[in-house]
Amino acid sequence: MNKIDEEKIYNDAISVFGETSQKIMVVEEMSELIKEMCKDLRNRGNIENIADEVADVEVTLAQIKKIYNIHKLVESHKDFKLRRLSERILENKMIKKEHDNDK
Ligand SMILES: [Mg+2]
Repeated sequence: MNKIDEEKIYNDAISVFGETSQKIMVVEEMSELIKEMCKDLRNRGNIENIADEVADVEVTLAQIKKIYNIHKLVESHKDFKLRRLSERILENKMIKKEHDNDK
C-alpha cells in the first residue's frame, strides 16, 4: 500500500468513526500488544499474534498523530530519544570495555 492510500485511509477512519473512537482503539490495541508480550515473556508467545498487534498499534498510532497534528513534534522527540539512546549505548560499551580490561 502506498503512502497516499495509507493517509487517505487514516483520514477516512477518523472521519467515519470519530476521534474519540480512534483514541479508544489505540488504547485497546496497545493493551492487546501488552497481552501478547506478556504471553511471550511466559514462553507462550506467538510471532504471528505479536506481528498482528504491532501492526494494529502502528495503524492506530498513525491516526493519533493525525488527530493531534503532531507528526513533526513526534519526529523531533524521536530524534532526541534516538540520539540519547545512542549515547547510552556508547557509554555502556565503554563501561563494559573498561570492566573487561580490569579482569
Ligand atoms: Mg489488535
